[in-house]
Amino acid sequence: MVSEDSNKSKAQVHNIRAAKTVAETVKSTLGPLGMDKMMVDGGGNVIVTNDGATILRELDVSHPGGKMIAEIAKTQESLCYDGTTSTVVLAGALLGNSESLFEKGLHPNVICRGYHEAAQMAVKYLDDEVTMESNDMLAYVARTAITGKTLESSIDTVSQLCVDAVTKAGGDAESVKVVSFPGGSIEDSYLYGGIIVNKDYVLESDEGDYSSILLINTGMDHEKSEDNVQVQMDAASYQSYKTGGNAALLSQSKNVTDALPSGGVVFVRDGVNDHVCAALKKAGIMVVRRVPESTMRALSRATGATIHQTPSDASEATHATVRRERHNDVWYLFVENDHESNEATLVLRGATTHTLDEVERGFDDALGVVSLVMRDGKVVVGGGNAYARMAMHLRTHASTIGGRAQMAIEAFADGLESIPATIAENAGHDPLDTILAMRHELMSGNVLAGPDVENGGVKMLDDVVEPAALVRQAVLSAAEVTNAILRIDDIIARRGVE
Ligand code: ADP
Ligand code: MG
Repeated sequence: MVSEDSNKSKAQVHNIRAAKTVAETVKSTLGPLGMDKMMVDGGGNVIVTNDGATILRELDVSHPGGKMIAEIAKTQESLCYDGTTSTVVLAGALLGNSESLFEKGLHPNVICRGYHEAAQMAVKYLDDEVTMESNDMLAYVARTAITGKTLESSIDTVSQLCVDAVTKAGGDAESVKVVSFPGGSIEDSYLYGGIIVNKDYVLESDEGDYSSILLINTGMDHEKSEDNVQVQMDAASYQSYKTGGNAALLSQSKNVTDALPSGGVVFVRDGVNDHVCAALKKAGIMVVRRVPESTMRALSRATGATIHQTPSDASEATHATVRRERHNDVWYLFVENDHESNEATLVLRGATTHTLDEVERGFDDALGVVSLVMRDGKVVVGGGNAYARMAMHLRTHASTIGGRAQMAIEAFADGLESIPATIAENAGHDPLDTILAMRHELMSGNVLAGPDVENGGVKMLDDVVEPAALVRQAVLSAAEVTNAILRIDDIIARRGVE
């Protein structure tokens, strides 16, 4: 297949093959009718997912070329939350197309230059012509991200929940708190106006509700000595040393009981000594210890409570509405947001932990894309429409570049079309027919044309939109990794660092 004097070195052959294999693995999951993958590790643990980034994270990729492809899925996920499979499929198609360019005698540098040029032209066209400004399509953006996932059965509930949650969090998907409880159905998921804490509670009383809370930023335990010092003491001085420590703890717990005369919940940032817990329990006070700092701050925002530095500062409790719920043998505390703040928690329900994990991944994608669009209001039509439009633009302009690089630009355009082609193929329709029909519609000015996954052929995707930033990043990342792989002409073993 490859002649001796070919431009393609051995390293390129291997890298391209490995990268294409990785892309093939995730390809069948792309789009609304994409399949799921079941992944099993040596210990028999099972993950069922449709999420490209998750598959690639769990996949045991050992070839360096394959690893480079798997890496871009991570980048895409961290920057845009979604579009990981598309990025990998696109990179796989670009690499595959480069093989035939090699065979036609193009030098890797010429291909890289052409691909680079093409990516720049494509995103410029995307920014200038394809991108639409819209702020009232957030629920549609969430829908597009969810289509094809476990969540699809409850798509209306879920997409509205995502929009509400991100809106509540001021547009920041990272700060949306998510808690999932097995049991129930996705339909039962809801946005709770408050904070949910599940730290190791100490009090297991039957009364569920509390109306006062206290926040303490340190712990209530014996001082830990800085070093591992050994001290020799006689029995009497040891007794008085111990009593001294205990007395300090007792006075701390008295502060807390004084502040919460009729019981309540004390949230403590650090550890709490078991004796102190017992004493507080007697006074009807629930102790929640080792509360993360972020939760502490959220509790303070939601209830207006001051975070007291030490137990001795804690003179006054704050009124709050706290109730307990038990899920899967774990107690959760629901602290209501009755102070004008943004604190809210998304409560997800799902039948089993396996489906619930996939539900969470679906929500992560949807929350992310909603926040992306909330930031800049820029969307494009999904279903591979934006990719096909960029491809059409590249084909009409490739000849302006001239020289052999234009062959690479045409190959890049073909690569872009692999996205709508794969979406159609995974839905059981002929990819080539779909692409030809799409080209025809786009040429005739029907700019919303995309694959009709239900009936085959093409339809106007007026309610399938995704963030413009996602498509932009997918094109740039795929082009970059392809070029990086094409530039490697040798793989050399490195000396291990040890
Ligand atoms: P990725 O990891 O790339 O997000 P997905 O499996 O989530 O992969 O598929 C996303 C693709 O499916 C996007 O191109 C999106 O526009 C497309 N898509 C979503 N809903 C539809 C639909 N109803 N019709 C056609 N394409 C759709
Ligand atoms: Mg997706």
